[in-house]
Parts: sequence; structure tokens; C-alpha cells
Amino acid sequence: MDIRKITKRDKTEVVNLPKCKALIYYMSEDISFPELLSSFKAGYKKAKLFFNYDLKKEIDITLVYSRKELEEILARKTQAWEIGFTSNKTGNIIIFSPSVVEENSNHKKDDIFKTIQHELVHAFQVEVVKGFTPWWLDEGIALITAQQVKTKGRECLKSLIGSAKFFDYTTDNYRFCTSNGGYPAAYFLVENLIKDFGKGKIRSLFENSCTSKNFDLFFKEKFSVSPEDYAKKLVK
Ligand SMILES: [Zn+2]
Repeated sequence: MDIRKITKRDKTEVVNLPKCKALIYYMSEDISFPELLSSFKAGYKKAKLFFNYDLKKEIDITLVYSRKELEEILARKTQAWEIGFTSNKTGNIIIFSPSVVEENSNHKKDDIFKTIQHELVHAFQVEVVKGFTPWWLDEGIALITAQQVKTKGRECLKSLIGSAKFFDYTTDNYRFCTSNGGYPAAYFLVENLIKDFGKGKIRSLFENSCTSKNFDLFFKEKFSVSPEDYAKKLVK
């Protein structure tokens, strides 16, 4: 399906990045667009700095103007907190226009400016990652890079480790965790990993990762501790 055909987005902003282009589709009467664009550009710099990498494949960013339209594009129901999405195959982004985010979600308008940076980090991850990385690593890096500071991470991590679903990488567990404090928990865990081991080592988890079965083993070879034991020590 060509998502551009669903609504009357009549403008395309071509953003020239160092090694490729980003195409942003939006409505010409959308007065909130310039602020979103500058946030996108600032976000690109942040993601580039973290991954020490420039995107090579062109990405599309499509602004949406209602939740109905969003759900038609995604072909699924969404929750009120969901305002931005990145395809884990193409790195293409779908996100609410800042002009309509408050009437279509439980977020404040300003949240969308960090969300576009968060989604852009996911687009980098699509290109950089060589195998499997767990959701908590992907989300932790995206939250930290976009400076979406989360509180209560320790408590959330503690309760999710208790439910034994955090380090068992199935789609159902991912859904359970992200609806039950998974984002603050991921933020807290990755923030501490970066503090203890440095950005370079965390980045190389993306560059050299393998399969969901042996990710924890791969992690343990690198850090001499399994992610679960590391997390347990953190929340003690
Ligand atoms: Zn995310």
C-alpha cells in the first residue's frame, strides 16, 4: 500500500543528509511543520553522534493527521500513548503532526519533537544492527539519545524482572513489558550500562549482535555478566 495516497499530504520536504535523503510528507497548511523539521535535523545529529554513522538508505517520514488514518496505515488498533512508529524493515517513519497530537493522544504537543528524534534513532538501528537486539536495548538507546528522561526506572525494572518477562524475548513479552513500565525500565538499564561500560561497547552490541537465542550469551562474553544478573544487581 502506498501510504502517501491515503490523505491529502500535498507537500514534500527533501532533507539532504550527508549520504542520502529523507523525504518528509506533510500538508501545506500545517504550520507546525517547521518546528518538527528542525527537531528532525537536530535528532539526526544526535543519532549520528551515538552510532558514529550516517544513514545510507533514503527514508520516508509521513505525517498523519488523525488516529483513524494512522490505524488504516498500520492496519491495526493503536493505544492513546502511541504517536510515532518506525518500520523495522525500511526505517520509514509515521508520526503525528505536532498540530494534532494533543487531540489524538494523551501526549502534550511538545512530546512529538522528542518522539521524532526517538523514531529516527530506530531508523539508524535498522541500518546498523547486524542481527537481533532486544527491545530494551533498542528503546533504551532511543530514549536516551532523544533525551526522553524517564523516572522510576529502578522500580519498573525491579517489578519487570520479577515477572520474568523482561529477558525472555518473545513478542507477547515485549507487548506486556512496554505496557507495564518497560520504557522507564529500559531507560534505567541502558543508562547504567553506558555509565559502567561506555557508549562504544554498547554501540558494538548493535554492530555485532547475533540471534535472540544467544544474545544474552554474547552480552555475557562482552561484559562478564548476563543482562539479567546485571539488572538484578542494579535494582538490589
Ligand atoms: Zn521506540
